[in-house]
Amino acid sequence: MIRGHKALAAVLGAVILTASCSRAPEPRTRMEFLLGTACSVTLHDRASPDLLDRVFRRVKEIEDRMSATVEDGDIGRVNAGAGKRAVRVEEDTFAVVEAGLEFSRMSGGAFNVAVGPLVSLWGIGTEGARLPEKGEIAAAAARTDYQKVRLHREARTIFLEEPGMALDLGAIAKGYAADEAARLLREDGVTSAVIDFGGNIVALGSHPAGRLWRVGVQNPDLSRGQYLGVLEARDLAVVSSGVYERFFTGPDGKRYHHILDSKTGYPVENGLTGVTVTARDSMVADALSTTFFALGLPAGLELADRIDGVEALFITGGRELHATRGLRESFKVTDPSFRMAGE
Ligand code: AMP
Ligand code: MG
Repeated sequence: MIRGHKALAAVLGAVILTASCSRAPEPRTRMEFLLGTACSVTLHDRASPDLLDRVFRRVKEIEDRMSATVEDGDIGRVNAGAGKRAVRVEEDTFAVVEAGLEFSRMSGGAFNVAVGPLVSLWGIGTEGARLPEKGEIAAAAARTDYQKVRLHREARTIFLEEPGMALDLGAIAKGYAADEAARLLREDGVTSAVIDFGGNIVALGSHPAGRLWRVGVQNPDLSRGQYLGVLEARDLAVVSSGVYERFFTGPDGKRYHHILDSKTGYPVENGLTGVTVTARDSMVADALSTTFFALGLPAGLELADRIDGVEALFITGGRELHATRGLRESFKVTDPSFRMAGE
């Protein structure tokens, strides 16, 4: 009892000490369910009273414009116009689709901004998730040619050339939203905050105690919130893609996850269970985590090594880790059942 008491006093002492030293206010967190996931923002220093309202209003606006399931949103209308008409969209939607197309070209379609028909056919992460028939899969895969996405910059329109085509920004929009949240925070003078949109993390500024942020890297074999290692970072976006995020078990007992190979029409199967990417921008990290996951090893790692300001960690089903050189410096494995390849 006395021991427990002392420990508690020590903890409280530490809390008071930090508070009085830095005069940091209590952290304020708000969480809302948006973009199909839990989105939270934690502020560690002072901010305008309406800042969090403005941040979440902006995220909701992004969801309304960019979610493929919002029928009267930008992407909903572009998809409804497939094979018929070019649709004018908001500037932010245009920019995200344009970026998505660039990642599609850069990866030869491993990342595919036009993967929509397969995403809705499989319905992974929704109540309607199911293992489709081979014929349905082939038919949907045939409608995912990103080279048939026409952008008209001046008119700010998007045209999908074939009927049945559909854009899906699920692999990039959360990252864009996290960047927008970070922008609003920085504009308000916030210097210490954590944005976490379903595992898309922006560690903004530095920790209130002045040290680096410590960001846990999800163990893909376990449920959310269990880490295999820790990354130390300042002012950095950290995004993970993996088999654990959305999946269902088919009638055959097999697990089907949500990152789809638009060439085969099936979930990507390349031995990876997860990829974590760090970059300045969350949108870039988001798009690249999906891209690297879909490319697999060694192609994904080779590409990661060639992109400036981007680091990546690849996790295999055999619990082997492969990392870019820069990442090895800031990352520590904490779960001994994982080991860094070549060490
Ligand atoms: P992420 O969690 O960022 O890796 O994104 C996965 C989500 O992106 C899925 O839930 C789909 O909405 C969408 N998606 C699935 N496969 C692909 C792909 N090959 N390229 C781009 N987006 C994809
Ligand atoms: Mg992504």
